[in-house]
Amino acid sequence: MLGGVYIGDACTVRIAATTLVALLAVFPGLACGNAPHVPPEGLPLLFEAVGEEPALYESAMDGCVEIHNVWKAQVRAVHLTAGGSISNRMEMLRDSAYAPYAEFWDGYASDFVGWARRELDLASHPQRAFPTQVDLPSLIADVTAQAEEMTGFRGCAQWYLVYGPGWAGMGALTDGRMLVEFFAHHSSPEDMRWALPHEVAHVIRGLESEPKPWDLLAVIVTEGVADYFKDTYWGNDQSVPETLGYSRAEWDWAIAHESELWDLAMEQLGDTSPAVIHRYQAADKRVHPDGPTHVGYFLGYRIAEAYIARHGEDALVDLFRLSARKILEESGYSPG
Ligand SMILES: [Zn+2]
Repeated sequence: MLGGVYIGDACTVRIAATTLVALLAVFPGLACGNAPHVPPEGLPLLFEAVGEEPALYESAMDGCVEIHNVWKAQVRAVHLTAGGSISNRMEMLRDSAYAPYAEFWDGYASDFVGWARRELDLASHPQRAFPTQVDLPSLIADVTAQAEEMTGFRGCAQWYLVYGPGWAGMGALTDGRMLVEFFAHHSSPEDMRWALPHEVAHVIRGLESEPKPWDLLAVIVTEGVADYFKDTYWGNDQSVPETLGYSRAEWDWAIAHESELWDLAMEQLGDTSPAVIHRYQAADKRVHPDGPTHVGYFLGYRIAEAYIARHGEDALVDLFRLSARKILEESGYSPG
């Protein structure tokens, strides 16, 4: 998302590409230490699913939705070099899974080769089969088409489906490219499916809808709009607490303390510091010690809900074209 974005959707994680690059630079050995792993037996099941000549690129809606199945190139390279030398493997990974996507990797995890050498473990990573358990290209196309019907806006984007360092889940990089990370922590194929409308809402609302710099209010409203759209998209299939990633008890607490949470947020709405924004956005951070995490989503959801309650369901399109401040002002949101 915006320049300096985040971390921590309940459903997905967003990290500024620059942050990741910085982290990689600072902690080049992060989570490493094991000897490079080359499975002597290869990866028969995964490779079977991918095939000798995998479809690395798919598109839908006349090229509006573009999917790069980088994970297939990764599986193919690791499988075909299993039993060979590590340098063979790295060369094939570099040529087939890095070079064609260099702009993406350089914006996400700059040290692709170093990371792959240390950590790309397709033989035993518990999430290695995720991309074969959910048909994300079809789902992304379906959700994007449905979102266009609901909003009138076309959420065109390039999506990169990858095995990566696992620091981010689904989300937008700072340049607008969409990331799907199969090695993201606390993820599952089902979670990815539920989260897609949230991410497509980000694509539609775009990264340029807000004046720079990106402040706490922009984050709260953007995430809240994305979750409001997700809730509208899934309808009765998912409860509002589930949409927000809350238990019933967490939701009840947030409702009971809503004005207190909003009072805290109001003092910082113009704040642009990542530390402050992180407290409202991260899946493991709390603004109130007794309250739930990522309350920015909750507050934003309530603002979006108040806007629609006041202006009617047809005003859904407004949530994708008005600034955060305008949405807040015209929502009449004022808990307590
Ligand atoms: Zn989000």
